[in-house]
Amino acid sequence: MKTKLDRRQFLKASALAGVAGNMSLNLFASTRPEQDPAAWIRSLVVERVANSPSNSIRNAENEKAWDEPLVGFARGDDPIFESFKEHVGPFHLTPLEVFNKEVPDVAVTPGELTVISWVLPHTEAIKADLRRRKNEPSQKWIRARMYGEEFNEELRRFVAKTLTEAGHPAVVPVLTKSYKMEQSQRYGIASTWSERHAAYAGGLGTFGLCDGLITAKGKAHRCGSVVARIAVPATPRPYQDHHAYCLFYATGGCGMCMNRCPAGAVTKEGHDKAACLKQCNATAEYAAKHYGLDGYGCGFCQTGVPCESRIPV
Ligand code: SF4
Ligand code: SF4
Repeated sequence: MKTKLDRRQFLKASALAGVAGNMSLNLFASTRPEQDPAAWIRSLVVERVANSPSNSIRNAENEKAWDEPLVGFARGDDPIFESFKEHVGPFHLTPLEVFNKEVPDVAVTPGELTVISWVLPHTEAIKADLRRRKNEPSQKWIRARMYGEEFNEELRRFVAKTLTEAGHPAVVPVLTKSYKMEQSQRYGIASTWSERHAAYAGGLGTFGLCDGLITAKGKAHRCGSVVARIAVPATPRPYQDHHAYCLFYATGGCGMCMNRCPAGAVTKEGHDKAACLKQCNATAEYAAKHYGLDGYGCGFCQTGVPCESRIPV
């Protein structure tokens, strides 16, 4: 009998499987931190995605899991992080809280912290594989969810380790002991740190009807983040509203993600997280039976929709 999904267990397992930490600092750093910290960090992420053999869905063709990423930065004292706490619940951590819990011996103020976020867009081949399906998950999508996320774990730890070694202590919020699932009065199941909200704060995108983050490279992606004691100029947020890039909220039209969702988990009222989780568990059963893979992945709401690969408004 297959174990039900548990995001924290999955992240932990992924972290163990990763190989970050063995790479030399200079191999990926084409710009030094003191010259231009934003360019340096961006190059760390972009070059790692471009060059790491771990960026693979591990199929016979050894196809890449991710295209060139987006990278954004938010200040640790940005009031948006307090607003997340107010909206989601008191358990939702600010950058200072997550940093202090992990490295209590390093004195820091909120303004000295930067939240580094990235978006890893799915490749066209992976999106096309799921786009043509209606109910059952595609093998490439499942592989990207499994092995692509393992790479994302490696990337998180690589960025944090490289920054720390360069004199900028850094933590990976989703790998800290304080990362867990809680019950939000307003939103139901919610985690103590949200990669998508961090990316939203870092100017990378806004939320769609199905809760996915619509970015300049679309909504078919996964996000990652690191909190570090380093001064980096914040990436401007070119939006006022957290739904600005979704056609449904902007024009009242679209709603394609409702049609694509095989579980009816997206309605005009938004995203039903419990129904979505049930469907994701069902994909795990399918992946084991049909692909021999111990993973899961749905993502119909991210493909075959106007926001799949771009901002549609
Ligand atoms: S498919 Fe349409 S309604 Fe759904 S998130 Fe994308 S733009 Fe919004
Ligand atoms: S991930 Fe799947 S079940 Fe969840 S909202 Fe998207 S299409 Fe529906």
